[in-house]
Amino acid sequence: DEIKSYLKDNLKPSRYGHTLGVVKTAIELAGIYNEDKQKAEIAALCHDIAKNMSYEDMLKVIEEENLKLSNDEKNSKELWHSIIAPIMAKRIFEIEDEDVLNAMRWHTTGRENMSNLEKIIYLADLIEPSRNFQGIEAIRDISRKNLNDAVLKALTHTIMYLLTKDCAVDLNSIKARNYLIYNS
Ligand code: FE
Ligand code: FE
Repeated sequence: DEIKSYLKDNLKPSRYGHTLGVVKTAIELAGIYNEDKQKAEIAALCHDIAKNMSYEDMLKVIEEENLKLSNDEKNSKELWHSIIAPIMAKRIFEIEDEDVLNAMRWHTTGRENMSNLEKIIYLADLIEPSRNFQGIEAIRDISRKNLNDAVLKALTHTIMYLLTKDCAVDLNSIKARNYLIYNS
């Protein structure tokens, strides 16, 4: 409840609605894959905590924490809210669970060798009820049957989308996808 009231004050209404959708989907997936539902709920609630922060405020946090950004991260401001989310969650709500913090950190790009909780938050962010894109129903179906297959399909969708928009692709997404192909 404390987190929710902070989010209501600091996120746009549409972003808050998206967050509640991610919470719902993440709890469902945690149930299917025997992960801790409370961890899934906290990670989902906080995943976009920094989404509506100003550029200046985000830059300030990056400097205060002395964060070293990769070349992809420096150039893609869309990634900053995921880098900053675990820091804000620690500062404001004293969340210390590494798996929960990592799930927030990697929700946009994914990464190699993700934990189940990281996979659940990555997927829930993409397939929560208010999202809509060509092929989403297929990913929703697979997400109930095979977590790795669903994450692979989700990464493929997102990378293909970025390619059609002539956008850069963060190397972590490529590595996350290759890892799933090599290890399943
Ligand atoms: Fe996000
Ligand atoms: Fe999100």
